Amino acid sequence: MSGDEDVKFSVKVVLTKQKNKVLFAEANSDFVDVLISFLTLPLGAVVRVLKKHYGDKEAPAFGSLTSLYNGLANLDSCHFWTEGCKEVLLNPTGPFAEECRKLKLDISDTQPTEYFTCEHRNCWTTRIGPPWFTSVYYDTAICCCGRPMTRKAVGIITKEFAPAVFTINTASFIISDDLQIFPNSTDLIQTLRNLGITNMDVGELRTVTFGFNEIMDLLMLSLLSRTPLSDFILNRRHVDGLARLKFEPGILYKGKVKEATSNSNEMIILKIMVQKSTNKLLFARAGEDFIDFLCSLLAIPFGAVEYLLVGKTCLKAIDNLYVSIVHLIDDSYLATLDIKNRLMLAKLPHGYISENQILPLIVESFPYTNDTVPRLEKFSSVKFVKGQGKYIRGPTMYKITDDLTVTPFCMASMFLALKEQNIPLSDVLELELEIRLEEGLSILKASHTSASALTDALMTKLMLKKQPKQEL
Ligand SMILES: [Zn+2]
Repeated sequence: MSGDEDVKFSVKVVLTKQKNKVLFAEANSDFVDVLISFLTLPLGAVVRVLKKHYGDKEAPAFGSLTSLYNGLANLDSCHFWTEGCKEVLLNPTGPFAEECRKLKLDISDTQPTEYFTCEHRNCWTTRIGPPWFTSVYYDTAICCCGRPMTRKAVGIITKEFAPAVFTINTASFIISDDLQIFPNSTDLIQTLRNLGITNMDVGELRTVTFGFNEIMDLLMLSLLSRTPLSDFILNRRHVDGLARLKFEPGILYKGKVKEATSNSNEMIILKIMVQKSTNKLLFARAGEDFIDFLCSLLAIPFGAVEYLLVGKTCLKAIDNLYVSIVHLIDDSYLATLDIKNRLMLAKLPHGYISENQILPLIVESFPYTNDTVPRLEKFSSVKFVKGQGKYIRGPTMYKITDDLTVTPFCMASMFLALKEQNIPLSDVLELELEIRLEEGLSILKASHTSASALTDALMTKLMLKKQPKQEL
């Protein structure tokens, strides 16, 4: 690690008279940049950094994503095409890895990106330089000219603090309890009104120091609580005492995301075992295509989740960070002109996502439209031998429990489990569900806040179509 553990931010916090709630906080752009960097974290990286920081036992469960991550981590390497693609899966890199390394405090804990370029010194691609026409794989990728990309690209910035990564470094910001961010110099009265502060019930001003541990607590609280800043400042860190975020059913998708659906025939079959008498989901079964889909969820950064779900996940604070970038922070406060667009779309780095992905995720691509320029998809890696986003080897059926734990399906243990729960076979029904964009988005949304993501995402749909397909 770098010296990030020693970095401290000073944040002014205003509490109510009763000292039971944060009215707002005031901080500089270095601190706000760290908050914005939450949006760049892939979901799998969030699970990983929380596990690393709090320890396996103490880390709070992040919806069903922690159990998804742990299940895949425990899955024997023989189920993956290569050892390397499992490693990539468990250590996903976000779209802003380079930028995050320049932050005063980088919580993403990613390896310094090594860039490799075509072995052929005069290959035209080597003249362009990072991030284009360079491979981010730690192993060999193939250049579009057909030669291996084995030559280390030079001139890449390593750890070097740079101010103004996301926001301009002279700016100061007002931050609400649930992480809405306003530039400090906008209309003060309007800002207070937006924050719901009508009567000036200001009680106490505190100066609070945030370091690495405190930022991790704030990240953790923003995944669990409606009032992360209050919970942090007032030391309510015990999971049971929090105003917990709950799963709210229903997804909203529109515009480009919806357009992508109508053009897509991508569909995956999921077989769901239901107890007839109770309508309870017992578990699901699927082949490697569905498991690849689950793997892909871990690679999606919060910013891309927000894009797909139109800013309506169940994580209020993360939604608010996103909305702050989209609406509250004027472009003039952002470090560069294109930072807003990049943060809004949070394109995924090349490699993680299959071309048959049911979610319309956007992958980083070349900024050229010229047909003679090869598309990024041409790059392939020895880690993804069967193509991008192809993690699971198959052909095996996998069992997926309600909290998205994946294990190889075993008929014998299924019978034993039913027997243990006193469920007669005659009470069990297997239903087939087609997983398309809508179902995929529902699973993505439910996975953030629900420990029973499959039930919450699919049960309504399942009950509507409850026609026996196959009695056991
Ligand atoms: Zn080449």
